[in-house]
Amino acid sequence: MLAGNERFAAQQASHANTDLDRRAQLRDGQNPIAVVLACSDSRVPVELIFDAGLGDLFVVRTAGEILGESVMGSISYAVNSLEVPLVIVLGHESCGAVAAARAAVDNGKIPDDHQRVLVERVAPSIMVAKSEGKTESYEFERRHAAQMAEQLAGTMPRLGQKLKDGSVGLVAARYLLSDSRVETIMSAGVGDTPKRSGSLATDGVLKLGV
Ligand SMILES: [Zn+2]
Repeated sequence: MLAGNERFAAQQASHANTDLDRRAQLRDGQNPIAVVLACSDSRVPVELIFDAGLGDLFVVRTAGEILGESVMGSISYAVNSLEVPLVIVLGHESCGAVAAARAAVDNGKIPDDHQRVLVERVAPSIMVAKSEGKTESYEFERRHAAQMAEQLAGTMPRLGQKLKDGSVGLVAARYLLSDSRVETIMSAGVGDTPKRSGSLATDGVLKLGV
């Protein structure tokens, strides 16, 4: 996937796995190589930035890549029913949800509509980052993506077990709007041997962060 991101960043996207043969192949089922929980931000279209095709990625997006019952249900389906071997939490540069949560922590301004949940679920990451002495936006964005990954591992027992036995890898990463590249923040249970074949796997998807 990092190789796919490099192609995208260099404006050399292959647009693989999008042709009619691929569509026909997918008619009866899917075999994605990664679950990606990403921010809904319009500047971070997941398949595009990884130069991924149809059936390659199981994508869940919420503003601020926050967790909730629906998100966990979707990730559980991918990991436990589809047996997807890699979970990626993807934050990004200039995230409005992280900025809003930071402002709320700093000055107590909390939205009075449904946006409140965004602030409430990002604010704990802001607090952790502050306790670590972090002051820069990129540091808050990185900490938040890592917090969401850690929360997934800690609150989804079957995912936690799969991480322990090495059948699933977990990565927190951040997309940089400034150069179109994805940086790895942390990884766990990511082995050297691809456990599933596929065009992206051969590009080193399971070696992310190693
Ligand atoms: Zn965002």
